[in-house]
Amino acid sequence: MTDDSSGSPVRPPSDDTRIVHAGRHPEDQHGAVNPPVYHASTILSPNMADWHEKARLRAQDVIGTFYGRQGTPTTHALEEAIAELEGGYRTLVYPSGLAACTGALMAFLRAGDHVLLADCVYSPTRHFADSFLTRFGVEVEYFDPAIGAGIDALLRPRTRVVFLESPGSHTFEVQDVPAIAAVAHRHDAIVIIDNTWATPLYFKAIAHGADVSVHAATKYIVGHSDAMLGLVTVNQDAWRALRDTHRQIGFSAGPDDVYFAHRGLRTMAVRLRQHWQSGLAIARWFLAQPEVAGVIHPALPGDPGHALWQRDFLGASGLFGVKLAAGVPIAAMESMIDALKLFGLGTSWGGFESLVLPTELARSRTATEWAPPGPVFRVHAGLEAVEDLIADLERGFAALRATVSTHATR
Ligand SMILES: *Cc1c(COP(=O)(O)O)cnc(C)c1O
Repeated sequence: MTDDSSGSPVRPPSDDTRIVHAGRHPEDQHGAVNPPVYHASTILSPNMADWHEKARLRAQDVIGTFYGRQGTPTTHALEEAIAELEGGYRTLVYPSGLAACTGALMAFLRAGDHVLLADCVYSPTRHFADSFLTRFGVEVEYFDPAIGAGIDALLRPRTRVVFLESPGSHTFEVQDVPAIAAVAHRHDAIVIIDNTWATPLYFKAIAHGADVSVHAATKYIVGHSDAMLGLVTVNQDAWRALRDTHRQIGFSAGPDDVYFAHRGLRTMAVRLRQHWQSGLAIARWFLAQPEVAGVIHPALPGDPGHALWQRDFLGASGLFGVKLAAGVPIAAMESMIDALKLFGLGTSWGGFESLVLPTELARSRTATEWAPPGPVFRVHAGLEAVEDLIADLERGFAALRATVSTHATR
């Protein structure tokens, strides 16, 4: 830490400040606040000397613009900002969140390896492991997300990667990342975490022991439901493997989508606070309904992940699960969803708008049992006024109750 001229210690900027300034270089772009959107494939050299110089810089791993597929100043601005917020060495952009998950896994695995994945990973990540990775000779095994240091019993000499997602998709199990990472590193395994729920602001994955932090930027970073994008940040040791596979496969994202992520990022700290607060208010409303058996939200006291969330996280986003009580028919949940006017029905989340989605996990847990008492759905609390959202849910629950009573009297 440096001192300013008055001699008083300069404290590092808070994330609210970093998120506004990271990766921006107006001095390099005629003073414009935001990076220009470069639409580029070919990057011309004025002469052979420049051509050789670019090859030399590229071989030295200097960030530069050599060919559109490997990124332009638009891409590098976003990568720089995310690496700073994550506290990582470098970040790379992928065309979707799923491509970021699969690109991270492919970077560290080879035929004959063994990979351990938390049982709560995003279903398409699981499907990739079960189909693609096994096809290329990688042995795939799932573990109970609550395992903690007990993962020691599952690590084998050929275990190369431990893949976490905390909290997990739909079931929101918080994992003990420092404990798992300490064991994995003792066995020379790489720890990858899908950190999408918490964003780079609310969980510092690298500082907690992960080597690789993956984000579906499609969610809160883009934040406006208008682009697909993925990001992977690594510590210095993991950089070469990540970069090589990224280049070999040819992952590339369009400049407009990269720009949307860059633009969304600037307001994410403010948006997240509202998603967090509205999400908790709505979660508490659900808890007060007699048809609700429980709410799965790590920021709620009593949630199985609450203690770890409190220890390791700096905030909560607006995505959580609602378990309906035993005996509530699926038809009643569906009539609730159909009666909602402000909550949209659709996949994805992290945009400004509220969403609901039924949770269907019957076939996607193998290491742990998923046996909720009744139907379950996922809620994304958007940026609408929370009292309007609760009024919408009251309308939805009136429809749910009407369906429950028709079923009961049949
Ligand atoms: C949505 C999501 C992804 C995939 O992101 P896309 O951009 O939709 O491909 C990966 N992981 C998690 C946890 C997600 O929620």
